[in-house]
This record gives sequence, structure tokens and C-alpha cells, in this order.
Amino acid sequence: MQDEKIICKDCGQEFIHSVRDQEFYKQQGFDNKPVRCRDCRKKRKDQRNNTNAQQRNNINSEN
Ligand SMILES: [Zn+2]
Repeated sequence: MQDEKIICKDCGQEFIHSVRDQEFYKQQGFDNKPVRCRDCRKKRKDQRNNTNAQQRNNINSEN
């Protein structure tokens, strides 16, 4: 195995899918390679969390 270079789907930057990451993916049973760099994955995760928090706030304010 060796480090792989992948172009991020979101920002178009090249990032390294390292051997360690590849092993981690295998352990988790993921067949797919990541399509986004670490930053973009984190951003998307943060966005999801924010959206969830906002939805919770909306529900609370309706009461
Ligand atoms: Zn990216």
C-alpha cells in the first residue's frame, strides 16, 4: 500500500489519502475512497451540526 493523491470534490485541492487512512477505512469496512479533503469533510460535518442545532432552536421557539 502507498499514499494516494485524491482531488477533493468540494474545493478541488489535492489531498493525501495516507496508508494509515486507507487501513482505517478498511477496518471500518468502507469500500469507497474519500472524495473530500479533511477540511471539507469537517466543514460539512460542522454544517450538519449547525443545521441540527438550528432546527432544535426553531422547535423550541415555537413553544
Ligand atoms: Zn476540500
